[in-house]
Amino acid sequence: MGVSPGIGHGPAYVLTVSVPEPPKGATYTGEADQEKERAMAALRQVAGELEARGNQAGGEAEEILKAQALMAEDPGLVVKVRTLIDRGLAAPRAVFEAFTKYRDVLAGSGGYLGERAADLNDIRDRVIALLYGQAMPGLRGAPAEPYVLVARDLAPADTALLAKGQIAAFVTEEGGPTSHTAILARAMGVPAVVACRGATGIPNGVRVMADGTSGDVRVEPAESDVADALIAATARQAAMASARGPGRTADGHPVPLLANVGGPAELEAAVAAGAEGIGLYRTEFLFLDRAEPPSLEEQTRAYRAAVEAFPGGKVVVRTLDGGADKPLAFLPTAASDSAASASASAAPSASASASVEPNPVLGERGLRRLRRFPEVLDAQLAAIAAVASEDLLVMAPMVATGEEAAWFARSCRGRGLAGVGVMIEIPAAALRARDLLASVDFVSIGTNDLAQYAFAADRQLGAVSALHDPWQPALLDLVAMTARAASAAGKPCGICGESAADPAMACVLVGLGASTLSMGAGALAAVRAALAAHTLTQCRLAADAARARTTPADARAAARVHLPALAHLGL
Ligand code: PEP
Ligand code: MG
Repeated sequence: MGVSPGIGHGPAYVLTVSVPEPPKGATYTGEADQEKERAMAALRQVAGELEARGNQAGGEAEEILKAQALMAEDPGLVVKVRTLIDRGLAAPRAVFEAFTKYRDVLAGSGGYLGERAADLNDIRDRVIALLYGQAMPGLRGAPAEPYVLVARDLAPADTALLAKGQIAAFVTEEGGPTSHTAILARAMGVPAVVACRGATGIPNGVRVMADGTSGDVRVEPAESDVADALIAATARQAAMASARGPGRTADGHPVPLLANVGGPAELEAAVAAGAEGIGLYRTEFLFLDRAEPPSLEEQTRAYRAAVEAFPGGKVVVRTLDGGADKPLAFLPTAASDSAASASASAAPSASASASVEPNPVLGERGLRRLRRFPEVLDAQLAAIAAVASEDLLVMAPMVATGEEAAWFARSCRGRGLAGVGVMIEIPAAALRARDLLASVDFVSIGTNDLAQYAFAADRQLGAVSALHDPWQPALLDLVAMTARAASAAGKPCGICGESAADPAMACVLVGLGASTLSMGAGALAAVRAALAAHTLTQCRLAADAARARTTPADARAAARVHLPALAHLGL
């Protein structure tokens, strides 16, 4: 499934999270000599790869990698591995025990030698991965040229430190159109393909081409195919770039096109892509790695920078959406609170807090979590108030009921904030949008979570990604219902879920009554071009046609009949 458009091409770099410990006492069935040869061959291969990479890297890295290569074939280790196999242990277990023993000896000696213990772990995991036929672990030693990062899945915490220019494309086995890999890729403007079964079986270093529009991933493509794909992508980009200025339909109906951002580093790309403001500032992304709540000054600085980046444009800051896939160590779950006091341990870690709730996605997330930490919410509202800009709005995530919306609105108004909204991302909120709208100034539909909860389908799980197809008629009904309630209340209804990033769907959302669309900066040009090429009437006809169908594929095809210019734009 292609989730971030464009063509990415480069050597595969396969990220595996961890190599499992081979089971204790694991044995082998064949001859001891054969098993020993298997182990020796793996050690030799890892040593050879480390050395080759060293030659390629040069400089200091060369010395380090060559030293690692020597360790892999250290005579003492080799003897130990052979002896353990003679005693009946399978090659992976023998390698594990021999390396672990040496590692402990090294670690105990401290200093420079002690620091080499981690190198031994890395070599050990590489050899075991090879023996198991698995991809290599870790992100160390990534190629110098832009590479295709292949992984099972990528969480926000994995990707926070990725160097943008280094990634040609993302390919993951798990994930769907609303998973964080997809969101991150669109924010970075990097092509991405998710739910690609078997991707981590691609050998490291092999050239891969990923088409983030069609979802095609090709291993060792012909040079001419790569050239053709790049030419086609460039032509498409040129067609899209021809639409400029604020978002509007062909007959002039304005639809402000806004950006979803996760931090100051993304502001520049949003401005460059012509965003008219920010429809969703995911503030939890600013503080994922923090043990302490962020200070008032730090938050004020971040929010002010966003307002200054878009003079005259609106900026919607979402209060912290902690919990589930976005754990925040300074907002632990109630369950981890009691676990921590029971064991008198230190503050629970982010991963601990994520794992204590039996079903974190159905747990105390978003506004629910913040209600237990009113001082953190208040500090965030105070920071927004301190920017003192009419263009800075605030909204709460994961609001289920009118009562929750009213509580949030009261908290905001108590701080003197005027533009207050809530996200509609729980089916109950869509069904009773009128109740929520009674106390807020606007709503913004988060189609990612709305789909997750409407279809009871984990947004991170590749196996259920078809249920996250933005064309699912049930999702369209929930959007229509919300937009109608907003229109009846005379209040704006934005869309900030990933649905808005699909150009054909963007037209349908406008037809359903969306007043603004917010998306990753990389999607803005295509959506702007799609809207500019169709009238509001065409958008409405497309929306009606889609909702009249019963499957996502039929809904999409029926909508496209009313959106003929998409084909000319290559969308
Ligand atoms: C959503 O759920 O659609 C949304 C925009 O919020 P997030 O993706 O950050 O959960
Ligand atoms: Mg959400």
